[in-house]
Amino acid sequence: MIIFGTRGVTLSGKPAPFYCPQCDGDRQYKRKTIRRFFTLYFIPLIPLDKLEEYIQCQTCRSNFRTEVIHYDPRAEREAAREESRRDFRTILVHFAALSGRRDVAFLQTICDLYSQFDGGEINTAMVSQDLELTRKDLALETGRIRQQLSDQGRESIIRAAYTAATADGEITEAKEAELTALAQGLGMTEAHYRGVTAGLTPGLLPA
Ligand SMILES: [Zn+2]
Repeated sequence: MIIFGTRGVTLSGKPAPFYCPQCDGDRQYKRKTIRRFFTLYFIPLIPLDKLEEYIQCQTCRSNFRTEVIHYDPRAEREAAREESRRDFRTILVHFAALSGRRDVAFLQTICDLYSQFDGGEINTAMVSQDLELTRKDLALETGRIRQQLSDQGRESIIRAAYTAATADGEITEAKEAELTALAQGLGMTEAHYRGVTAGLTPGLLPA
């Protein structure tokens, strides 16, 4: 009597690097494929269809869907930081435009405020250019940056915006209105905004 049938056999690929979400670090994985085989006397002879495919971490042995090999939280985090820097730059320049100053010391202060936010670098020529193209509506930028920041981060944006807007030594009603709108956009209460700006004085820069 000939005994034949089918059964699943697990095949392993070569180890390769990936970011394991379970270990939360760089590890090696193997691609595991379960394939149905035609068996003769219980010996798998002929590969048939693929039943399942998954990724296994060689350290913690966790199994993942195959998409995991494209997962890189560092790249995602860096992209989010880059977007926040861009949003901050738009906000900062918007408030810098409210100040009457355009001298080099002023432009340099804007560069410094920008780099204090997250270590980014811009130069005075870039600020000068940005000032020509300021945007009126910051809803998009504030809404987005709000998601990325802690309370402290939001406070630092308010302080930077205040410093930029009042660099000419004046805090007008119009500037105040813009600043409170920014605080609101960042999800801060009126009291929180007052607390952050209480210790600040206009015109911190030497003329
Ligand atoms: Zn792992």
